[in-house]
Amino acid sequence: MGGDESIVQAARVSYGRGTKTVSEDRNLIRYLMRHCHTSPFEMVEYKFHIKLPIFVARQWIRHRTANVNEYSGRYSVMPDEFYVPSPEDVRTQSKTNKQGRSDEPIPEEIANEFIQDLQETQNLLYEKYNNYLSKEIARELARINLPLSTYTEWYWKIDLHNLFHFLELRLHPTAQYEIREYAKIIAQIVKETCPIAYQAFEDYRLNSVTFSAVELKILKNMIQYKLPTFEEMLEMGLTKREVEEFFTKISFINNFK
Ligand SMILES: Cc1cc2nc3c(=O)[nH]c(=O)nc-3n(C[C@H](O)[C@H](O)[C@H](O)COP(=O)(O)OP(=O)(O)OC[C@H]3O[C@@H](n4cnc5c(N)ncnc54)[C@H](O)[C@@H]3O)c2cc1C
Repeated sequence: MGGDESIVQAARVSYGRGTKTVSEDRNLIRYLMRHCHTSPFEMVEYKFHIKLPIFVARQWIRHRTANVNEYSGRYSVMPDEFYVPSPEDVRTQSKTNKQGRSDEPIPEEIANEFIQDLQETQNLLYEKYNNYLSKEIARELARINLPLSTYTEWYWKIDLHNLFHFLELRLHPTAQYEIREYAKIIAQIVKETCPIAYQAFEDYRLNSVTFSAVELKILKNMIQYKLPTFEEMLEMGLTKREVEEFFTKISFINNFK
């Protein structure tokens, strides 16, 4: 529901109607993103119908600012559908990130053994599940031993401000590969439906970094004051306002005690 124009429309309530050219709308959205004026982004809403393995759903559900309605394993029979990673996605434990996998491939025979084992267990557990159901054991109990790789589905509704927060966390290389793949598809949808806001998100949040106080001290020592001129910065793609804000940031580093 909505798009870039809904963000602009909401913002103009607080900033006045004024001008309305495309470039001014773009500058306004980018200004809002830079300065964390987040509420206009809440005017855009997305509703997704998502099918996902339960282990991905457990990570996803931690994002509390969405509305969710999930398939019920108490009410309905769980589907005979399980996630199995591709052999190239079976990797060793990362040595640098305790929560993640490395880029190191695992020997092919171990990857294949793992995948085959997953499939055998999934089939066995589903067979047992069906058997419990046939003996009239309640669905809510019969399902409790199904694996985390079982697919579930849900409707997930969220506004753009909170979706950007989700994307920032789940597009990050430290997020688990499987949830990152979903985040990439959602990012593509946002890019197509709110192109200006998504570009601002990429520029000011996703691909930006913040510096701590100590890091600023280090930067202060490092910076060579060979700044491009005002005009050169405009040619590099900054707006006048961004150049002014950049000078303010630079002077902040310079005055940092
Ligand atoms: C790489 C990675 C690893 C993780 N590892 C773990 C782990 O090992 N164990 C684990 O338990 N979790 C883990 N998490 C989940 C993480 O701690 C967060 O719960 C999750 O990312 C959702 O973030 P959030 O709370 O900011 O988002 P949301 O729930 O969408 O909330 C957005 C913001 O709204 C505010 N907010 C929302 N609800 C409340 C509330 N009830 N009270 C106060 N403020 C609220 C907060 O400011 C919050 O930042 C991991 C997440 C990532 C990305």
